[in-house]
Parts: sequence; C-alpha cells; structure tokens
Amino acid sequence: MKYSVVGAKRILIVGGGTGGTIVANNLARRLHGEIREHKVQISMLSASDQHMYQPGLLYVAFGQMMPDELYRDQASLLEPTIDFRVDPVVKFELEKKQVTTKSGDVHEYDVLVIATGSRMVPNEIPGLEEGAEFFYTEESAIKMFKKLREFEGGKVAITVGVPHKCPIAPVEVTFSLHDYFKARGIRDKVQIKYHYPINRIHSIENVAKWAQPEFDRIGVEYETLFNVEEVDAENKIVKSLEGTESEYDLLISIPEHRGMEVIEEHEFGPGGWIPTDRHQLTMEGQDNIYVLGDTTNLPVSKTGSAAHFQAEVVSENIASIIKIGAPVRDYKGKVYCFIEAGHDRATYAMFDYLNPPDLKPPNKSMHWFKMSYNQMYWTSVRGLL
Ligand SMILES: Cc1cc2nc3c(=O)[nH]c(=O)nc-3n(C[C@H](O)[C@H](O)[C@H](O)COP(=O)(O)OP(=O)(O)OC[C@H]3O[C@@H](n4cnc5c(N)ncnc54)[C@H](O)[C@@H]3O)c2cc1C
Repeated sequence: MKYSVVGAKRILIVGGGTGGTIVANNLARRLHGEIREHKVQISMLSASDQHMYQPGLLYVAFGQMMPDELYRDQASLLEPTIDFRVDPVVKFELEKKQVTTKSGDVHEYDVLVIATGSRMVPNEIPGLEEGAEFFYTEESAIKMFKKLREFEGGKVAITVGVPHKCPIAPVEVTFSLHDYFKARGIRDKVQIKYHYPINRIHSIENVAKWAQPEFDRIGVEYETLFNVEEVDAENKIVKSLEGTESEYDLLISIPEHRGMEVIEEHEFGPGGWIPTDRHQLTMEGQDNIYVLGDTTNLPVSKTGSAAHFQAEVVSENIASIIKIGAPVRDYKGKVYCFIEAGHDRATYAMFDYLNPPDLKPPNKSMHWFKMSYNQMYWTSVRGLL
C-alpha cells in the first residue's frame, strides 16, 4: 500500500504497547506542524486493538485487580493524527524500506520504529507448562489466583528463567505470597522457597543485598544457581541443571522470555533480541530504524519504564532529525522500578548504565504511589507524564 501523502516523511511504528504508543504520541505532538502541512505522516501497526497495562497482572493473580481494569482501546490512547491499524507485521524488508502485514498489505517507510515487546516461552522446559502457575498473561494470572485460593498449605516453589521482562517480579511475587498467606491465616502452614539462576537472589546486586535479609526476616528459603531443567509435574518435583531438586505442592514460575516470533524468524538477533545502539537506540547498521522496549538487546531491564525513557529519546531524536538534521539526545540506560515488598509496602530502584540503584527501606507511601501509578499509566502512555 502506498502512503497517500506523496513526498512526506513516512514514520512507521510497529507495536502499540508501552514503547510504541509513547513514541507515536510524542512524535505527533512534536511534529504537529509538519503533519498539518502533510510533510510528515505517522502510522502504527499493532497486533491488537487493546492495550494492556501488564504490571496489573501481578494484582490479578492475588485478586486485587480485575482483568478488565487492565485494558483500554488502543485507538483511544493515540493522538488523532496517527493512522492506527490492527494488522501485525509478518515480513520486514529493510533494503526496500517496507513491511508486509498479515492481511497482505505492504507499508513503505522512511523511518521505522520497532517496539514489538517480548513473550514468555515456558514450553522450552519439559513439564513446566503442565506443572507451574504463571502470571504473565491474563489467562494464567486468573488461573494462578484460583489455585492460590484453593491452596490450604504445603510447599510453594518459585522459579525463574532468564531473561524475562520485569526483573523485579520474582521478588515481588514472593513478598506478595507471604502477605497473601498471612492474610488468610495459613502462613505457618506454607513453606515458601525461592529459586534463582545466578549465584545471588537477584540479577541487580543491590536488589539482592536488600531482598536477602527481607526474605530471612519473613522466613522465605532460597536456593541460588538453580536453572530449571525439567519439571516432573506428576511427582511435583522441579529439577535444576545444577543437579538439585525441590519438591513442591504449588509451583510458581517466571519463565524465560524471547523476542516476538516475527523478530526471531527474521534472525535480527539471537533470541529475537534486536542488536541496538545503546545510546542512539538505532538498530545496528540501520540509521533509519529505531528499536526500543523489551525487543532490544540492551543491557537494561526489560520494563515499561525503560521503554518509556527510551521512547522519549527516540521521539525527540526523530523529530530533531526532521527539523534540524541531527539527533539531540542519548539514552543513558535509565530505568525506574517500583518494588512491591508485599501488599502494603513498597520501595523503588532507579539506575542507569553507570549508576547502580540505591534501595531505601520499603514504606506504605511508596506502595500507595505505585497504586496511583497503576491509574496514572494511562496518562503516561499518552505521553503526557
Ligand atoms: C506481570 C508483569 C509485571 C510487570 N511489572 C512491571 C513494572 O512493575 N514496571 C515496569 O516498568 N514494567 C513492568 N512490566 C514489564 C512491561 O509491561 C514491559 O516491559 C513493557 O510493556 C514493554 O514495552 P514494549 O513496548 O517493549 O512492549 P509491549 O508493551 O509488550 O508492546 C508490544 C506491542 O507489540 C505488538 N506486537 C507484537 N507483535 C507484533 C507484530 N508482529 N506486528 C505489530 N505489532 C506487534 C503487541 O500487540 C503490543 O502492542 C511487567 C510485565 C508483566 C508481564
């Protein structure tokens, strides 16, 4: 399909999640004059007409939010000048500067932004899908909630595959399990054991240093260097590559993630992660293609907050290149993560490529700030915050 505005700069955004939506809205505002004069056209192709606030899934798994609270119509979040279509991309032809969608349409571009996110791949581990509960999709979070309600006591094992989006989720779900069972009056009947693949309990060193004494205080056991090899769902045993085993009555898992299938199929980078310039956020070797959010191979957490900070840099730079012929900003690796330390306390981690996070003791006001952010997200994703 040819764009209707001949001679215009055609900016095509693939993916209408956190990163893609913020880029699109920021660009539409920064370039409103150019759009009005038909010099620029912004289009977005996505896989769904719905936008999900994914962090809310943790609350769904504990019955604190209903699934319908997590969704908005994607079109309602976008500036009216953005041409939005639900038609996932199935083919990228970088040489021809065009993509083909599922419906067979061909879209040409001058500037391409890829923000297709990531997906969990539990089926990579034998027995994991059958044996474990997850909370990274709506369906699995509802199922996990029902399992938790039925649970009357026994061994709860938490396992983690890497990489995965939201690196803080394993500690958050562990604290939440402790509070959930305490609130039901059965905490003394539940043994919680946390398993983590590297030699400390979190990939971010200062998070590990903060969480370990907290786990000790609330009676959570932990085993490090535990990479799940197999789950024996019948006998309820999870086995590690390192040769150890844990028995469980309830297994909660955050499985390894990969980039989306379309990215893997094009072999843009191992694991479906696109090689990305760490400061300019361009795809390696392609100066007209920007990549952001989970789908990059950057050494930063795969979080909505990273996608947000990257989106600001990408949109500012695309706009400045169009206006003055040069980018004006670098991405410095900024990430900000709330950390729920249970059902009524939270802290946060803020860090970048050079500066590790410095964690403060959790408190109630941070928890209520996070609860407010769960609503503020919709303003943030419109690019207004
Ligand atoms: C349980 C859970 C808790 C989390 N908690 C937090 C948290 O507390 N804080 C935080 O910052 N982050 C959190 N995250 C992570 C955060 O949601 C993601 O990192 C963020 O959404 C990534 O943004 P993105 O734009 O890269 O991808 P997404 O927001 O996932 O968007 C990807 C988009 O691409 C579209 N798409 C996919 N394939 C195609 C295709 N072929 N063609 C076109 N479009 C396509 C999808 O439909 C979607 O719209 C959490 C995630 C989960 C699951």
